[in-house]
Formats: sequence, C-alpha cells, structure tokens
Amino acid sequence: MDKIKRNVLLNPGPATTTDTVKMAQVVPDICPREKEFAGLMKGLRSDLLRVVHAPEEEYTSVLFCGSGTINIDICINSLVPEGKKILVVNNGAYNSRAVEVCEMYHIPHINLKFSVYEQPNLEEVENTLMQNPDVAVVYCCHHETGTGVLNPIREIGALAHKYGAIFVSDTTSTLGMIPLDVVKDNVDFCMASAQKGLMAMSGLSFIVGKKSIIGASKNYPTRSYYCNLYLQYEYFEKTGEMHFTPPVQTIYATIQALKEYFEEGEEKKFARHHRVYEAIHEGLDELGFKTIIPREIESGLVVSVLYPSDSNWSFEKVHDYCYERGFTIYPGKISTTNTFRLCSLGAIDVSDIRDFFVVLKDALNEYDIKIASNKK
Ligand SMILES: *Cc1c(COP(=O)(O)O)cnc(C)c1O
Repeated sequence: MDKIKRNVLLNPGPATTTDTVKMAQVVPDICPREKEFAGLMKGLRSDLLRVVHAPEEEYTSVLFCGSGTINIDICINSLVPEGKKILVVNNGAYNSRAVEVCEMYHIPHINLKFSVYEQPNLEEVENTLMQNPDVAVVYCCHHETGTGVLNPIREIGALAHKYGAIFVSDTTSTLGMIPLDVVKDNVDFCMASAQKGLMAMSGLSFIVGKKSIIGASKNYPTRSYYCNLYLQYEYFEKTGEMHFTPPVQTIYATIQALKEYFEEGEEKKFARHHRVYEAIHEGLDELGFKTIIPREIESGLVVSVLYPSDSNWSFEKVHDYCYERGFTIYPGKISTTNTFRLCSLGAIDVSDIRDFFVVLKDALNEYDIKIASNKK
C-alpha cells in the first residue's frame, strides 16, 4: 500500500488522524447486525465512559450516526419535560446553535446571552435560575470552538444542581483533549463526535449521560423520531445494536483511535495539545499577528487570530497557499470581527506547527502582506 499523504489540519475538526486509524477502516465487509459487530460496539461504549471517567453503574453512552450537531439536537429535544424550560448559557456560536434547536422544536427556553469574548457570569446564571424555578435543564458548551473560550462548566453544573436542574454540556471540542471527569465536573450529559478529540473519522457521534435521567425521559414529550435519546438507548440495551444502520467503517476507526488514546494517555495527550497551542501562539507572536481572546480563558485548543489590516491580506489566498503545501487554516466564527482560526487538535505536534509557520511566512512574502505595521 502506498503511503497516504499526511495533511496537517489546523481547522477545529475533523482532525489529522494517524495512518493506523485511517487503515483500521479497511476491513472485510460485514453486516452490522452480526453479533461480532454488536460486541465491538459494546467495548466501544464502555471505552467512551472511561474517557470521561463515568462510572458504569450510573452512566451510559449512546451512539448515533451523524455529525456532532446531532447530539445537540438529541439532548435538547429529548431531555426537557412537559411544562419545563431549558436555560442556555450562551457566549458563542455553538451555544447559539443549541438556542436554534430550541426554536426549531418550539421548546420553552431562556437564551442567557453573554459576550463572545468572555466567560459567562456565574452570578447572572444563578439569578436566572433563582427567578425561573421551571428550568429543568441547564445547557452550556464546554469550549466555544468559534472563539476558543473555555467555559467554567464545573461551576455552572453545580449551580444547575443547586436549583434542581440537570446539566448538559456540549463537550464536542474538548472531550479526549482536556481531561473531563463527569462526576467531579457536575455533568449529567456530555457529548462529542469521533473526528475531534478522539482523532477518528466523521460520522459517529455519542452522548454520555445518566441512565436514571434517560429512563425518566421515556415519559417526556417526544419531538423527533430518528433523534430520540430514550429510543436509541432502549434499543442498545435490548439488542446491543443501533436502531438503524451504524457508520460501520467509522466505528472500526474509532475503536483503533480509542486504543491509541489510552496508549498515549489522558495527561500526555493533554500536554501534547497544549504544547502545540503554545507553539501556535509563539509563531503568531513572531510574525506580529494579534489574537483576540485573553490567554487566561482560552481552552488551549483554538486560537482566534485577527486579520491583519494590510490591504494585501486575503484569507483565501493565504489559505490556498498553505493548503497546497499540506496545511489547512480555518475561517473565524465571530460575526463582528474578521478572524481566522488555528487549532491544536489531532495527531500533530510542535514540529508540524514550526513547519506550518515557515509556509505561512512564505505566503505572506509571496503576497507582500505586512503584519508588523498592523498596530490596532
Ligand atoms: C464541532 C462542534 C460541534 C459539531 O459540529 P458538526 O459540524 O455537526 O460536526 C458541536 N459543538 C461544538 C462545540 C463543536 O466544536
């Protein structure tokens, strides 16, 4: 087999994968209704619990075929009881996506908005909970991938519990990268897709959550057929299988990725992503780029970079130049500011970032883009 070209993806997922994960998908054809395949999913489901330190007695993991957004949809449409509300603690694009899901299903909700450049204010969260005893679910994204802001989910989860609500966190862009302990972090439900922190392929998403709450949700209003948490959970419990066709090859890749995850180790992997992030900041500083989120509240996984003011700057041209040389940079997701993003996800290390900055510098020279003169 020829060597597969290695691209360094600096976008916020899908991430750069190892060749062993890529090749894990090349297997004999199998019908996913075979016992052998159900056995594979059983191991995968318990490994996912281990990643977030979820005790098997209390938590379960439920798999879905879809991109990460399917988890947001499922948690919101499945976990709000009749006559109750959901509170979305919103400081960015991914929390806004949760608000859109509420709107789409006509679910009573509070959109508690904060600046996209800051962490949510906990006092305001608490006041809102105090004034709205009908809030049954508090929702907050762990890491706003659009900006790079890391949210204080442990504290938000504690507040939810203090006021008798459950806590759902979108951990799609942290799970498998920033150590997460659902018990200590007060998380009743978290979620991710296989192609981000776990460094597998896109198409498989999963929710880790409390069995007792999923059980209770059996009697909640049903708002979707395909995307119902209880239905999928019940099917897994009864048969060990997904209700409908699973993403077979992605599941093989994810099993291999989890093997590599446990081999690398939670702390070591976290440290690797962090040194990649440090190298990104170093390279940007050297070239004179400005970033927009204070380092103290950055996740260490996404860096939002301000566009230089030089009129020669063109994100597309610089992107294409880098892309042709094996590096992918990504547009920003802040409506009011022109930014692009560099991320530290995936099977990459500091040497890849150094190589990238050589290419980026060449791109700036090629298009005569000046950065240092760009003092805001
Ligand atoms: C990537 C991501 C998602 C899922 O996005 P998809 O495009 O559906 O894969 C959800 N939440 C966060 C925080 C993310 O970073």
